[in-house]
Formats: sequence, C-alpha cells, structure tokens
Amino acid sequence: MGARAVAREAATPADDGRTSVADFDVLVLGAGSGGYACALRAAQLGLSVGLVERDRVGGTCLHVGCIPTKALLHAAEVADSAREADKVGVLARLDGVDMAGVNAYKDGVVSRLFKGLTGLVRSRGITVIEGEGRMTGPTSVTVGDRTVTGEHLVLASGSYSRTLPGVEVDGERVLTSEHALSLDRVPASVVVLGGGVIGCEFASVWRSFGAEVTILEALPRLVPSEDEACSKALERAFRKRGIGFHTGTRVEGVTATDDGVAVTVEGGGVHEAELLLVAVGRGPHTDGLGYAEQGIELDRGFVVTDERLRTSVPHVYAVGDIVPGLQLAHRGFQQGLFVAEQIAGLDPRPIDESAIPRVTYSHPEVASVGLTEEQARAQHGDAVATVTYDLGGNGKSQILGTQGFVKLVSLVDGPVLGCHLVGDRVGELIGEAQLIYGWEAHADDVAPLVHAHPTQNEALGEAHLALAGKPLHAHS
Ligand code: NAD
Repeated sequence: MGARAVAREAATPADDGRTSVADFDVLVLGAGSGGYACALRAAQLGLSVGLVERDRVGGTCLHVGCIPTKALLHAAEVADSAREADKVGVLARLDGVDMAGVNAYKDGVVSRLFKGLTGLVRSRGITVIEGEGRMTGPTSVTVGDRTVTGEHLVLASGSYSRTLPGVEVDGERVLTSEHALSLDRVPASVVVLGGGVIGCEFASVWRSFGAEVTILEALPRLVPSEDEACSKALERAFRKRGIGFHTGTRVEGVTATDDGVAVTVEGGGVHEAELLLVAVGRGPHTDGLGYAEQGIELDRGFVVTDERLRTSVPHVYAVGDIVPGLQLAHRGFQQGLFVAEQIAGLDPRPIDESAIPRVTYSHPEVASVGLTEEQARAQHGDAVATVTYDLGGNGKSQILGTQGFVKLVSLVDGPVLGCHLVGDRVGELIGEAQLIYGWEAHADDVAPLVHAHPTQNEALGEAHLALAGKPLHAHS
C-alpha cells in the first residue's frame, strides 16, 4: 500500500461549511481512462490526489480494451496487405499468423504505454493506493484495513463484459473480448454473438487471420447505432470478405459439442463453431462497491448524475462507463478532466455528448459524429439535407484500394448535424468532422478550406463542396 501515511494537518473548510480533515483533496476510485485523467488533471491543478486501483493503472482501455484490440487490428491489416500484395505488384505472401508473435507485439505496445502512464502518474505526485476499494463513507473508501478520505470523491469503477442468460462464459470455448485478446491460436471458426462494435472488430481480426466467422445480431443490421448507410456499407464489405452474418437473429443459448460450441437462435437454428465470442455490451461495475449503501442513486446499475457529473451525494462525482451514455474511453477522459476542473473551481463547460466521435476499427472502418440521418429527420423533418461523397472519387482511397463514403447530414442552409464515414483509415478523419460539428459549421464555411491532395481527408472537403452546391470530383 502506497497511501500517504499522514493526513493533511490543516482542516480544509468545504464549500458547504463542513470542516474535515481529508487525506486528499480528490480521491478517485478506479484508475481507468476516466479515473486517471481526473487524477492527472487534478494534480496539475495543484490538488492532492489519491487514486485507488485494484488491478493496473490504465484500466480496461489500456490493458484489455482499446489498445490491445487495435494492435490486433493492425496485425490483421498487415496480414491482409501481405495476402493482397500481388495486387500492387509486390511479391510477398502470407505464410501464416504466429499468434505468439502477434501477442508479443500487442503486449509490447501495452507495456510501453503502461510504463509511460505509471511514470506520469508518479511524476505528478499522485498517490496510488493498490487494492480493491469500497465506498464506506460519504467521501471515503476502504481498501483492505485502511480507510482513506477525500474532500471530493470521484467514482470511476468502469465496466465489465455482459453476457446473456443461457450463455455461460467459461473462458475456453465461450469467451468475452478479454479472453479473445489473449487467445494463443487462430481459431478455425468463430461465432460472434452481437454485431456491435466489439463483435465487428473481432470478426474483422479473425477473418483477416484466416478464421471462418459468423456474426449473429438481434437487431436488423450490423453496428445498429450507426447511420443505416454505414451499416449497409459495412455489411457489403464483410460479405465480400467472406464474413458471415445473420441480422434479426437473437441468440438464445449455447451448448458444448465435442470440438466446440453449438449456438441456438430464436426460431430453432443452430450455428456450430470452435469458439463463441460474447459481445452483447458492457455493464457498469457498481455492484458490491458500497455505492447504494452510501446513498448514491443508481439506475439499472448505472450512477445517476447531473450534467456536471455530480451524483446524489454531495462532493461525490462519477465518470466513465458507470455514467449512462456512450461507453468510450475518450468520453471518460473528457469527463475526468471536466470533474477535476470543476473541483478546482474552474467552471468548465458541460460535455456535449452528441459531439463525441465514434469509431469502429474494423476493415473497413466506420466513423461518425453527431446525428444519423434518421435522428436528424426525427428532429427536423424536411429541413434536413444529406450528401454522400463516394471514396471512388478520392485519389488516396483508390491508391489504398478502399471503398466507402463520406455522408453529411445537415440542416438546409444551416449547420452540419452529422458526419458518417466508411472506409479503411477513416477513423483518422473524424477529428475534422468533429470540429465541423462542434463549431456548428455550415457547408459554406468548410468549402473554402483547402484540403491536402492526395489525402483521404480531401473526401471531407469534397463532401462539403457538394453540400455547398459546388461539387468538384462528383456529379452535381
Ligand atoms: P454494443 O452495444 O455495441 O453491441 C452489442 C450488440 O449485441 C448489439 O448490437 C445488440 O443488439 C446485440 N445483442 C444483444 N443481445 C443479443 C442476442 N441475444 N442475440 C444477438 N445479438 C444480441 O456492445 P459491444 O460491442 O459489446 O461493446 C461494448 C461497449 O464497449 C460499447 O459501448 C462500445 O461502444 C464499447 N467499445 C467501443 C469500441 C470502439 O470505440 N472502437 C471498441 C470496443 C468496445
């Protein structure tokens, strides 16, 4: 335990008049994206910070989420490039995928980032308290036999992989994404339960590595929360890649077979494979942490907050996946920064949830910000205009051999309300789309901006030219 041994001597008057001696100005429970971002910013602002973590600083994103998954996806891209090298006249071939080597590469990326992060936390003077923390007072957390107190407490306990009744995860044949990340082989065949973000990313990786993949998705389309055009384009691309999928198909249960699993779906169909990946969403990790006992209002396990991320208990905030909304690391970072600044009295602007970018890093990628066409039409009716610019007209996309589009959703003579992209590497373009959305730009504001040629980024510029009524490399 590295907790600071001596409590601050001076009593700090809190803004509600209470007087207390707290170990820290800010005590953070959970050192994932939301928690560590809050800790780093609070320390930067001169506050003393305690950070309670039962596992490793960095949380799901760094150790068993975003970073290792994207490393696998990069290895998958390299495999595809080798397999298709002859298309560009390069004599190379894919002899196979050595999972030990892939995992060593992936783990190397994670451990370098982990080392950097722990160094950063140390250099900012943050006290990391190792162990399972439990809220045992209005702003206190007990770790083992020690109780630490903060003037303010930030709950950042993250999320876990959910499963379904009738689908028991054993880590051998029925896996969550965490198990899938440390698999020591390329499976011959996989059924993926859920065609959301995790399902599509792993389906993409395994297919690139040579597995037979079938996705089962209950809703009518893959990545169902994205604009329908993106789902259709991803489905087309997956079909071409030989990734099987059944939409409108609800999984009911799974049983073991001699050499794998048999997955039953509503209506009686059965899908057999070596492995089943369960990717039906992530639940908030709030059970058994003393939240309810301390009066924190919960809704189906999520912590209820106001727009300033305050919980129902004074001086207690919540950030990250336990707060209802998009469960994304970058949302957690921003919430963490926000809460730290709020505690420090900087009066930060509440986060606009609709401006949070979303990326599915499959091959091809799907990236979006703002409203889908359906959502925009529901809110604004006929006042909505859309433009779709096909990557077929984009030089760099042709060079890379990727297909897809940029779709803009806008108010007629008004701001851009949504931007939806499909294609390899388009996740890297979402930053500009996000600025356009966030600054409520009109097509006419973007059209005069010069985009470097030849880049995929140009496709965003071309789409705005088209929306402004003056398409260049597209038909009017
Ligand atoms: P998700 O909610 O994106 O997708 C789960 C899918 O499972 C849904 O489409 C749902 O309809 C389907 N489903 C549920 N029950 C089913 C059933 N009985 N039969 C068939 N299908 C069923 O969740 P996820 O993909 O597990 O991801 C979890 C969270 O992690 C998400 O919030 C996601 O945004 C986040 N995440 C993000 C990224 C990224 O940003 N690239 C990557 C991984 C995870």
